[in-house]
Amino acid sequence: MKAAVFLDRDGVLVEDLGLLTRPEELRVLPGVPAALSRLKQAGFALVVITNQPVVARGLAKETDVQAVHRSLDTSLLAACAPRLDAWHYCPHHPKAEVLAYRVICECRKPRPGMLRQAAHDLGLDLAASFMVGDRITDVAAGASAGCRTVLVETGKHTAAPITLVEPLDPNLAPNHVCADLTAATDWILAQR
Ligand SMILES: [Mg+2]
Ligand SMILES: [Zn+2]
Repeated sequence: MKAAVFLDRDGVLVEDLGLLTRPEELRVLPGVPAALSRLKQAGFALVVITNQPVVARGLAKETDVQAVHRSLDTSLLAACAPRLDAWHYCPHHPKAEVLAYRVICECRKPRPGMLRQAAHDLGLDLAASFMVGDRITDVAAGASAGCRTVLVETGKHTAAPITLVEPLDPNLAPNHVCADLTAATDWILAQR
């Protein structure tokens, strides 16, 4: 079975501008294409795992999120990054304005549903995999799925927690904290 690096989108791959809804707002963070190439060359599957409450809030449709992801995919390929293996997003929110998305789902991080779905789809070894995120909720999702976790400081690592339906484990901590995806890649490649 293959190992994966699960990647949060906003604050890890691209600048976290708050509620990003349009491709024109995408700003790939420095070093990201090269870091993705190194991880891919090392044999990892690369999977985006992103909460997108913009859908639940009625600020964008799921088709808009998918268009943003196609655009980001194109930008990364143009910057010589490898093609990512899968893109998973959670459009739900427990307090959604759009009723169809007001559910307590298994996919919204800190729950591990998206990682488990990707593991099922791609045949991934979660215990050999890593989750890279900029929020403690990313760390929680990765840890719940049985992955090692890295917190990067390119996004919302100092921001208030997102809306949760259950409290996080107060003892939860990432396995590693570092500046950005380049440094996260250095650490991940040193673990093998
Ligand atoms: Mg983030
Ligand atoms: Zn969800």
